[in-house]
Amino acid sequence: MSIRFLDAHLHLQDERFPAPADQIIARAESVGVHRFFCNATREADWQDIMELARKHTGIMPFLGIHPWQVDSAVTGWEERLAETLSSCSSSGAGIGETGLDKYASSGLQMQQKLFAAQLEIAADLFLPICIHCVRCWKMLLDTLERQAAGRGLPPVMIHSFSGSVETMHRLQQLGCLISYSLRIMNTRNTKLLNTFKQTPLEALLLETDAPDQLHAVPTRQSDSAITYNEPLNVAALYRFGAEQRMMHVKDFANQIWNNATIFTNQTLAR
Ligand SMILES: [Zn+2]
Repeated sequence: MSIRFLDAHLHLQDERFPAPADQIIARAESVGVHRFFCNATREADWQDIMELARKHTGIMPFLGIHPWQVDSAVTGWEERLAETLSSCSSSGAGIGETGLDKYASSGLQMQQKLFAAQLEIAADLFLPICIHCVRCWKMLLDTLERQAAGRGLPPVMIHSFSGSVETMHRLQQLGCLISYSLRIMNTRNTKLLNTFKQTPLEALLLETDAPDQLHAVPTRQSDSAITYNEPLNVAALYRFGAEQRMMHVKDFANQIWNNATIFTNQTLAR
């Protein structure tokens, strides 16, 4: 069987893509990318993502409110989120993108309130949750450790991980999956690459965060015609990652595919 890649975090509904999502998906599929964890950033995305997931079996919808979008939250969003998630097909859905960001315009207190509420819904429904964290590692670890000691954590992935090797180990001990983006291919960021190399294989995921992280697309340096990041770029990340871990790309891709399957399978307790 040919190699199957998964893009563990992206935003196919994003208006910044210059082509319709169908074309972006077809381009990705042509290089072997067949599964996409498509994340919302605000409530206005939810129906668009559900629609995309109905059209493309490879898309798993993640619905939530991003820390940059906490001001967009309208009263009653928690109920509507739980309701929309329970209307999803048997192929499932998750919560995302949520989290904490030191550089977001709204204060951390408000972000923390929305994040804790989304973590609570994920725990209630035992749904996978995709977390964004920028320079708020202590606050994140405290929140997750509190939840783990209380009623327990839902399946958690940390998207586009950028923390230290110590933080990675603490998250991994809590059962979190650690997802890396094209940023590990940046030759100036050897610290992040070293953290990637030390991440246990069974905790790894890979993603593009497309259309974001254009700056991290390696081919962009030599080709100024590249104006957006897209899921087909994840294939190069798998090749790079496999080489760094001294693995055959097919075995490496299978491992990550299986990690994602465990993460999203509600019948398997982690
Ligand atoms: Zn994102």
